Formats: sequence, structure tokens, C-alpha cells
Amino acid sequence: MISVIFTLDYEIYGNGQGSLEELALEPTRRLAEIFKEFAVPLVVFAEAIELAKIKETQSDPAISAIEQQLRSLRAAGHEIALHLHPWWANAHYEKGTWHLDWTERNLCALPAARIEEVVAGAVSYLRCALADPLYTPHSYRGGLWLMQPTQNMARVLSRHGIRVDSSVFKGGRTRALGLDYRPALRNGSDWRFSSDVNVPDNGGPLWEIPIYTEMVPFWRMLGRKRLRIQRKMPEAANGAPLPRRWLDFLRFRYPQKLDFCRMTLPELARMVDLVRQEDRRTPEVFKPVVSIGHSKDLVDFDTITTFLDWLRKRSISVITLGALTRDHFPLFRATPPHPETDGASRAAPAMASS
Ligand SMILES: [Zn+2]
Repeated sequence: MISVIFTLDYEIYGNGQGSLEELALEPTRRLAEIFKEFAVPLVVFAEAIELAKIKETQSDPAISAIEQQLRSLRAAGHEIALHLHPWWANAHYEKGTWHLDWTERNLCALPAARIEEVVAGAVSYLRCALADPLYTPHSYRGGLWLMQPTQNMARVLSRHGIRVDSSVFKGGRTRALGLDYRPALRNGSDWRFSSDVNVPDNGGPLWEIPIYTEMVPFWRMLGRKRLRIQRKMPEAANGAPLPRRWLDFLRFRYPQKLDFCRMTLPELARMVDLVRQEDRRTPEVFKPVVSIGHSKDLVDFDTITTFLDWLRKRSISVITLGALTRDHFPLFRATPPHPETDGASRAAPAMASS
């Protein structure tokens, strides 16, 4: 059995440039309309630190509309999840420009007390933005996909009631950050972990439900649509959080993420078809397929509509990470439920399958 989970990183450019209206608010409004048509849910990974900073400084007039949008999305049954760009935590705003702190680029590598401070601040911001003091995020994704080193980060997240991480993309490698998800290629479609996100540990406090990837020849990463979207954002390249290292691309096979904003319909369908073939061999194994998108990359809404239609015609359900863990993981049900997590899961609309 296969379910697809659409996750949306909800944020402006990593270097602090760009407007909330253009990069988050308006594209997400159009996306939510499409998901409403199909009666399926999204997981919105809201980058809470930049939103908190923008609110504090009132540097972008759309911040109240953003908070309103998050409340409406949640009320409509979408999952609001936690996403963090920690380089914003010490940011300051001067003469119209954000100065970000790149020394805090990898939250997982900071002292446990600092991780706690940043996570607590972000959760508290989301509670305020959602006007719900009991809100607890069910799922987490690190900025730059970082969940290494794992131990302190996993402890802090689970202490805050978070149950699922979706930072890993199997086969990933970013030397400048010490990120190495190549060992995870040996793992199944999901696993529990504790001190090392690459290593399954049935007693671990968190579940990893990775972003779906396929190892492809490097030239397939040069698709025309992908390059067009990258070119559309020249300003994002200035002071980007991650300087591109050519060594990371010098691999014959490269993990291509199932990206519903950057891929074409044939590319998306081909990747899901691979999982369907595997499912015919092992139908008894549940296979969550996490797709990723970014609000700032949302330009091709037609492809998203046709992809949702393609899934519906094949009776492939679309669910949230909250609903997935509740309905498909017996071990998850056996662990003490968190009141808010259960509430959030129940709010998710039923899967749409024809
Ligand atoms: Zn992000």
C-alpha cells in the first residue's frame, strides 16, 4: 500500500531576501485551493524562526496575513509542522537588510541548551501565530535537511512532543555541513531512531519518514524545468545559506528528491511508478512516499493539479504525517499519545481515493 505525503517548506529565500506575499502567501493560497478541490491535505513546514523575527521587527507588512493563513490552513485540516532555519535566531535587521548568523547554520551541532532555546522559541511563536496555546507540532524538518549530529536534537524535539522527522533524503551528502545520508540507503521506507538518524532503533523516540529520493545519473538533475526555477531566483544566490561545493556534485549517481514544484509530470509519475512496482511485489508493506515542495518554487500549478489527478485515478491516497503515524504504525499507537498530536491528526481530511 502506498500513500503520498505532500510537504511544503513555507519560507522566503534562505538569505533573508524576498517578500512574504510573493514567496509564501500568494503561492500557498493557490496551492491550498487546488488541494481543496481534491479534498486532500498538505503538510506545511512553517519556518518559524524567520516568521518570529519578521513579526518582531515588522519588516514585512504581510506577516499578519501569513499568520492568518496558517490558522486557516490548520482549520481546513492541513498539518502545520515545524521547520527551522537556525541562522535566523540571532539575526538583526538594519536599514532594510537582514544580517543572518551563519555560525548557527547547523542547529544540531550547537550545545543542547542552545538547541532547546531555539526550538522552544519557535514552538512558542507558532502557538501564538496559531492562537492556540496547546499546539504542539507533530513533525519536524531541519533547514538544509540537517538532522546530524542527531542525539541532542532528537532529545530536544521529542521533549517538545515532536514524533516525526522528515529531514533525511536517502543518499544525500553535503560536505560543508557534515551531512551524510548515504548509510540510510540501506533502510526501509521509514524507521525509528535515537542517537543517529541513519541507524534504525526500535526504541527511539522519533520516526524518520524521509523525503523520497531516487539515485539518478547526475545529468538528470539538469532538467529544463528545474533549471528554469533555479534561474528565476538570482537574488537567492547572494549570500545563500549553503555555498555550493562542486565536490558534492561530482558523483555519478545523485539523490533526486520527489519535488512537486521542480519536476515535470512525467518525472513525478515515473518516480511514483517505481514505488508502485515495488508495491506489487510487497503489497503487505506500507510505503509512505514523502514529496517536497517550497512555497518560493511554486510556479507550475498545472503540473500539481495533473499529478493529484494522476494519483486519484490510481487510488493512491494523500495523507498527512500525523494521520500516517496514527493509522499505519502500530508502535506509534502503543506509545503514550500526546493530546495535541492526536487532535491534529483527527483534523486531517480523509484521503481522497477514487
Ligand atoms: Zn527551508
